[in-house]
Formats: sequence, structure tokens, C-alpha cells
Amino acid sequence: MEISAVIPVYNEKDNILPMVERIEVAFQKGFKKYEIIFVNDGSNDGSYEILNTLKMENPNVKVYHFIKNSGQSAAIDAGFQKAEGNLVLMMDGDLQTDPEDVYKLLEYIPEYDVVNGRRATREDGFKRKLASKIGNGFRNFVTGDNIQDTGCPLKLFKKEVVKSYKMFNGMHRFLPTLAKYMGYKVTEIPVRHYDRLHGESKYRVFGRGFKAFKDVFAVRWMKNRMLTWKIEE
Ligand code: UDP
Ligand code: MG
Repeated sequence: MEISAVIPVYNEKDNILPMVERIEVAFQKGFKKYEIIFVNDGSNDGSYEILNTLKMENPNVKVYHFIKNSGQSAAIDAGFQKAEGNLVLMMDGDLQTDPEDVYKLLEYIPEYDVVNGRRATREDGFKRKLASKIGNGFRNFVTGDNIQDTGCPLKLFKKEVVKSYKMFNGMHRFLPTLAKYMGYKVTEIPVRHYDRLHGESKYRVFGRGFKAFKDVFAVRWMKNRMLTWKIEE
């Protein structure tokens, strides 16, 4: 398997089919063997049925259903565990990023182990953009990092990176920083970003900001406690 797309889905019924179509067009330009993994995080809007039909019609699509809503970090974690590709492209299930941009990220592999997208033309409204700016600044200040857009949904990983994460609830917001702590090389590249066409955001700006604020200190703790042993040759 050359590449796996990993997509968390919570009530994205109108986005699923257009998304698969666009990912396939994009992947077929550069990859012979690929898989599209959907992790359904307890949707109750009909996404469940749409995914089941899709899985039966399309051998490139793999679907895993959680028994109940367990959070975006959990869905990403499950997708990372199931992924078989040498590369893993993480994307949201809402088409706010363009699967074609995988080729922009790909230019930095193999030199880098993680290529994080940065939403260059961010379409999210003033409040979200401001919260994101403050959040990224604060996170970088506390954790000593320089990633500008940790929340960008489009990220490309080498397989070994996704297999090394030990995920916790909320940690999907820190994937580039955590990869660096583990010794991987990470870079950040501008990608396109669009408004949601269908469905709604699953987060409130304030609620998320508060949770992420607390998590920043957990991430710093991890950095300070990371084991970095090496056996003498
Ligand atoms: N999501 C999920 N479980 C949740 C909340 C969100 O799997 O409990 C998925 C959601 O379907 C989407 C992605 O995570 O694919 C990001 O969510 P959203 O687009 O609402 O976040 P935003 O883009 O507004 O930051
Ligand atoms: Mg979104």
C-alpha cells in the first residue's frame, strides 16, 4: 500500500461521497495502490449507512464504526492503527482542504517525516482565526515549538510516525509537536483551505480553546519527561 487517507467522521453525511470522489481523482494521479479509511465516530445523521454502502461498492474504501462518539483524537488514533500505507494523509471529513494538495506536501518526503499543512487562505471567520492565532502562539511559547498552524487538517506522515504515537484525548491538536519530541523531522507547507459546504463545525471556539489551553501544559510535561535512551553500539 503506497498511501492511506485517514478521515474522522462525525455527522458528515453530505461530505462523504464528494470527498471520496475527489480523493480518488487526486490519488490516481500519483499512486498505484491506496486506501481511504473512514473512522465513523458515532454519527447519527445517516453517515453510518452511506459509509456501509460505499464500502461495499468501492474496494479502496475501508470503514470502521465506533460504538459511540469517542472524539476526534480517538478516531484519528484508530485510523492510524489500521493504516497500511507507507504514507498516511490525515484529512478532515468536511472537504475544507483539497486532496490534490497531497502533492505539495509530498515534495518534502523523504527529507521530512511529517509535513504539516498551513492554511494559507483560511476560510473560517474572524473569531476562529483569532482563537487559532492566539492558541498557536501560546502553544509555541509554552512548548518551545514554531509550528504556525497545528490545527490544519491536512497532514502527511511517514508510516513509522503514525505507528509511534501514543494518543490521548485532545492530542490530535499536537501531532507535529509530538512527532518532533519523538525525534522526527517536521516541516510546514502552505495549503488551500475552504469554507464548509455541508454540515457544521463540531466545536465551539471557546470550549475548544479552553481545553487546548490545559493540554498545552500536558504536552510540555511530555516533552520534559520523554525517554531518549540509545544503546551503545
Ligand atoms: N470529528 C470527529 N469526532 C468529533 C468531532 C469531530 O470525528 O467528536 C471530525 C469531524 O467530522 C471532522 C473533523 O473531526 O471530520 C474536524 O471537525 P470539524 O470540521 O467540526 O472541526 P473544525 O474544522 O471546525 O475545526
Ligand atoms: Mg472542519
